[in-house]
Amino acid sequence: MSQSSEWQELADKLFLNTVERFPVTLVRGEGSRVWDEEGREYLDFVGGWAVDSLGHCPPVVVKALEEQARTLIQASNQFYTVPAIKLALLLTENSCLDRVFFSNSGAEANEGAVKLARKYGKIHLNGAYEVITTYESFHGRTLAMVAATGQHKFQAPYIPLPEGFTNVEYNNPEAIKRATSEKTCGVMLEPIQGEGGVNIPDDDYLKKVEGWCRERGILLILDEVQTGIGRTGTLFAYSQYNVEPDIMSLAKGLGSGVPIGAFLAKEKASVFVPGEHGTTFGGNPLVCAAAYATLKYILDNDIPRKVKQTGSYFKAELERLKKQFKFIREVRGRGLLLAMEFDSEIAQKVAMECLARGLLVNKVKPNAIRFMPPLIITTGEVDEAVGILKKSLKAIREEANG
Ligand SMILES: *Cc1c(COP(=O)(O)O)cnc(C)c1O
Repeated sequence: MSQSSEWQELADKLFLNTVERFPVTLVRGEGSRVWDEEGREYLDFVGGWAVDSLGHCPPVVVKALEEQARTLIQASNQFYTVPAIKLALLLTENSCLDRVFFSNSGAEANEGAVKLARKYGKIHLNGAYEVITTYESFHGRTLAMVAATGQHKFQAPYIPLPEGFTNVEYNNPEAIKRATSEKTCGVMLEPIQGEGGVNIPDDDYLKKVEGWCRERGILLILDEVQTGIGRTGTLFAYSQYNVEPDIMSLAKGLGSGVPIGAFLAKEKASVFVPGEHGTTFGGNPLVCAAAYATLKYILDNDIPRKVKQTGSYFKAELERLKKQFKFIREVRGRGLLLAMEFDSEIAQKVAMECLARGLLVNKVKPNAIRFMPPLIITTGEVDEAVGILKKSLKAIREEANG
C-alpha cells in the first residue's frame, strides 16, 4: 500500500465526514501548479477554492510572512498594529467603502456585515432586522449564514434556522421588492453567484436593486467573498455593475492563501460602538502582512486587467470546445470565474478525467464544472488546461458512444 493511501485512510477515520475528497494528497505548490505525494504534477484550476490569487507560495507573500513571523504574529485588537492599518488603508483607498473590520473567514465577515445591518436597522429603521437574500446564493456555513444561503441542501439538516432572513429568486428585482417589509434592514447579494453555479445576473439587476434600497432607505450588502480582489476582471465586481454597496464582505482571494476575511462599510452604515463586535484572531499582523503584500501586488501590477484578458481568452477557448462537443450546454462567467455546463450530470466524471491527466477543476453542480485558477495564470497555461479538458471530454464521448 502506498504511503498516500495510508494517509487517506487515516484521514477518513479521523475527520468528521463533511466532504468527498479526490484521492490525492497534495504536498507542495508553486505558481499555478501543485504536486502530490507521489510527485505527480497538476495544473491547478481550483486555486485553493478561488483563494490562491497570486498562485501557490507566491514569493511576495512568502517574504511578507517570513518577515512578519519574525516581528509580531498576534497582538489582539486591544492594540494598534501596523499591518492591519496599512491593509485597511489600501482597501478603503481602492473601494467606495470607508471603514473595515477584519475577520478570519468569509462566513465570519458576512456575520459581521449582517450584525452591522441589524444595528443600523435598530437605530435608523425602527428596529428592522430582516435581510433579504437569494436562492442559489452562498454566504457561508455558520447557522445564520446557512439561513442566509438560499439552498435547501445546506439548510435542511439544521432546521430550525436563526430567523431574520428571507430567500427570494435571484436576478429578479421584483422578488426583492415584494419581500421588502417594515422589518427589512437590508438586501445581501453576490454580484455573481459563485457556489450556486457561476450565475451571472442581467446587467441592470444590481442597479435596480440598488435603486430599490435607496428608495426604501435599506442597506445594500454585497458579498464579494468570491468575486472580489480581481477575480472577475475588476478589483471588485460591483464597479462592473455601476453600483456602490453600503457594506461589502471579502475573504477568499484577499490573502493569497492565508485565512483572512473583512467587511467594509460606508461611513453612514458604520454604526457599531465599542464592544458590539469582535474577534480574537481577526486582523492579526501575520495575516494582514500577507494580505497587504497580496493586494499591493495586485494593484501595482494591474492584475485585474490581466484577469480580464486571460479570462476572455480562456472563455473563448471554452466556447470553441462547446462547438466541438454537443453535450456542452453553456459556458459562462466573467474574468477567471468561469463555468461549463453539460446537458447531463457528468461533472464528477469530467473532473476525474481531468485529474487523471493532471488538471484540477471543481464540480460546482452535478452538471457543471467551475474554473477559478490563480489570477496570475498565463495564456500558455490556459492552452494546457484546455488541451487536457478536450482530451477528457473526448474520452467521455468515446465511452458514451461505446
Ligand atoms: C466561500 C464563500 C463564503 C464563505 O467563506 P468561508 O471563508 O468559507 O467562510 C461566503 N460567501 C461567498 C460568496 C463565498 O464564495
